[in-house]
Amino acid sequence: MSKTYRIAVIPGDGIGKETTPEGLRVLDAAARRFGFALKLDHYDWSCETWKRTGAMMPPDGLDRLRDSDSIFLGAVGWPGVPDHVSLWGLLIPIRRGFDQYVNLRPCRLMPGAKTPLAGRTEADIDFYVVRENTEGEYSSSGGRQFEGTDREFVSQLTVFTRTGVDRILKYAFELARTRNRKHVTSATKSNGITFTMPYWDERFAAMAANYPDIGTAQYHIDILCAHFVQHPDWFDVVVGSNLFGDILSDLGPAVAGSIGIAPSANINPERAHPSMFEPVHGSAPDIAGKFICNPIGQIWSGAMMLEHLGEVEAGRAIVTAIETLLREGGPRTRDMGGQASTQDVGRALAEIVAAG
Ligand code: ATP
Ligand code: MG
Repeated sequence: MSKTYRIAVIPGDGIGKETTPEGLRVLDAAARRFGFALKLDHYDWSCETWKRTGAMMPPDGLDRLRDSDSIFLGAVGWPGVPDHVSLWGLLIPIRRGFDQYVNLRPCRLMPGAKTPLAGRTEADIDFYVVRENTEGEYSSSGGRQFEGTDREFVSQLTVFTRTGVDRILKYAFELARTRNRKHVTSATKSNGITFTMPYWDERFAAMAANYPDIGTAQYHIDILCAHFVQHPDWFDVVVGSNLFGDILSDLGPAVAGSIGIAPSANINPERAHPSMFEPVHGSAPDIAGKFICNPIGQIWSGAMMLEHLGEVEAGRAIVTAIETLLREGGPRTRDMGGQASTQDVGRALAEIVAAG
């Protein structure tokens, strides 16, 4: 009997409703070709749900997702709905509730994508950003004192735990092992942040000692951002704390070109809980409803999902199909200089995957 994976599908808002069907179309083609099955549970949780019910998802939302093998998300957010509603009502509870402590973003220049870095080719931009997703600078610990007086005092605590730091570093080194270059770069700022960042560096050195086969480098976040732009070819796997990883995981896809292509994953590596896969882009209200958006970021996120589920060959086949389509002048959406619709691109990719 073939293996069946249970996937929770949350299209969300705006173009998420247009990209997820194309993601599912290509996943279905991969499932048929590689002999596994996907059982889909659809959830219409979105900003519309919030307008109707006062909540982005029902109170038992997390429980409904809990038995899924993965969550396949489109985009969440809409003009007029504040982030503390959309982000904190859906995305953050899922990330935290399921201990998705790795935020993973491949940053790869695809054929035909427009990198803003002059003269750079596909061989120069091919790295992963690994962001710690649960602690660090984004703690909820802190506050204001003496508000409104001239003694006003505001603080926010950065929290690193040994468990939290070690597990993200371990993930980065394990990922590097699967790559040709076998190299990990750490983002730090121990010259200015003198308690937490030296601790991060210490744990990085300790973890590196377990991986003599992996090369390492370490840069302060400021110069690291400059190197992303000037020397993207230096990087293979780049690991950072919640804040530094946040910065790098927007900068990385930006140097790799089109926002419509970039995928991302929120992963619980131990598989104790479902992981979540979503494109880097948002709900793009400016182009929503027209079926002109690029579905590749969603489709590539689906490929990451299959790899996480253990269907590595099927995931790679999808990425190869994306490369083939872009290299061989297949249909492309306007953001990549074409005229094709969202569905045209999805159908073309499904065909390439099916044909093998
Ligand atoms: P977020 O919702 O994450 O805060 P945002 O609203 O600032 O992000 P996006 O929704 O990602 O940004 O859109 C930024 C710009 O990129 C918009 O002009 C949008 O039309 C364009 N864009 C985003 N995704 C796509 C896509 N898949 N295809 C084509 N254009 C896109
Ligand atoms: Mg948005």
